[in-house]
Amino acid sequence: MSVEKTFETRAVHAGTQVNKSHAVAMPIYQTSTFRFDSCAHGAELSQEIAPTELYTRWGNPTSQALEEAVADLEGGEAALSFASGMGAGSAAVMASVKAGDHCVAANCLYAGMTELFEELLASFGVETSFVDPADTAAFEAALRPNTRLLYVETPANPTLAITDLAAVGRIGKAHGVLTMADNTWASPANQLPLELGIDVVVHSATKYLAGHSDVVAGIVVGPRDWIERVWMMRKILGASLSPHDAWLVLRGIRTLAVRMPRHNQNAQLLAEFLDGHAAVSEVHYPGLPAHPGHAIAREQMSGFGGMLSFEVKAGSAAGQAVIEGLEFVTNAVSLGGVESLAVHPASTTHAPLTPEGRERAGVTPGLIRVSVGIESAEDLIADFEQALARVGSASKS
Ligand code: PLP
Repeated sequence: MSVEKTFETRAVHAGTQVNKSHAVAMPIYQTSTFRFDSCAHGAELSQEIAPTELYTRWGNPTSQALEEAVADLEGGEAALSFASGMGAGSAAVMASVKAGDHCVAANCLYAGMTELFEELLASFGVETSFVDPADTAAFEAALRPNTRLLYVETPANPTLAITDLAAVGRIGKAHGVLTMADNTWASPANQLPLELGIDVVVHSATKYLAGHSDVVAGIVVGPRDWIERVWMMRKILGASLSPHDAWLVLRGIRTLAVRMPRHNQNAQLLAEFLDGHAAVSEVHYPGLPAHPGHAIAREQMSGFGGMLSFEVKAGSAAGQAVIEGLEFVTNAVSLGGVESLAVHPASTTHAPLTPEGRERAGVTPGLIRVSVGIESAEDLIADFEQALARVGSASKS
């Protein structure tokens, strides 16, 4: 009789079947190439899809251990690792569409993915319609006879907009259109899109999967025959993950199930504190009952995640002053690490946009985005309290 393993146990053990040595930790196969037993052996491997012992751009045992682990945690048939989240997302999309096809995507994706749809794919003859992520009917209304892909990200940047994954999955199934969800912000500890009927999951493994802000990586999970097409794309475009970086992500995953509940809890407590603060006009966190996506988030997430954003009433200069006034919460982009990070999107990540573009993206002048880490919630609240005390709640800047 085999043990029915929980998520917590699988996070610690998933992918270990790939380890053929007696080492308890997966060895790092730090090699670019592998010895053939004979020319016939080399010929045989060259015919395989994603061989793991031929050439590391094609595959590698350490990357394979990571891929098996994430496929297990997301509940998918197979996975493929990449050198970044963008490497994963762009290969996944480009393996799924061709010139003359049409995509429907949420209008608040990670900026790199929006650029992929809006610029690169458009230049290759693939059109995309962008829709409100919270309006499921808009996804269906945007479908055309040549639509091949529905692409969403939930919770999304920077307003934590929530998309109803089960509804998007149903639309995809009803119309024979592939559905893809970026599960970076939730992580499989909080949300399982494939269980909700989505076909493919994409990750920036740089964030919660790795969890320590020390590696850039990506991964996709989906049906095995589709993964084979994505492998061809990876082999050609070449964004394969290095064995050492695969090992770092795998090591991070071992503690995912204990890190995420702490991120969830800290974010909830910080969101509630900010929600009642006189200098703050709005807090965006799906764990707050007033968040427009709260009901759907309750249905499809087992935890609301570690990301939140909030608006400082007094505007842009005050928002920047709050960030600069933080003592240990660090002013930096990215997210999902054990340490808390805060960023002012209007002057950094979204600065290249016009003021109207920023408004469309939900980036108000006083918006601050926080990746809530696993420090003590008390200390986190104290840091924001002292930083907010530096700005008044009245005058606009
Ligand atoms: N998807 C989401 C939701 C992200 O937040 C990011 C990066 O911030 C990416 C994809 C891109 O990942 P990477 O920076 O690993 O290429």
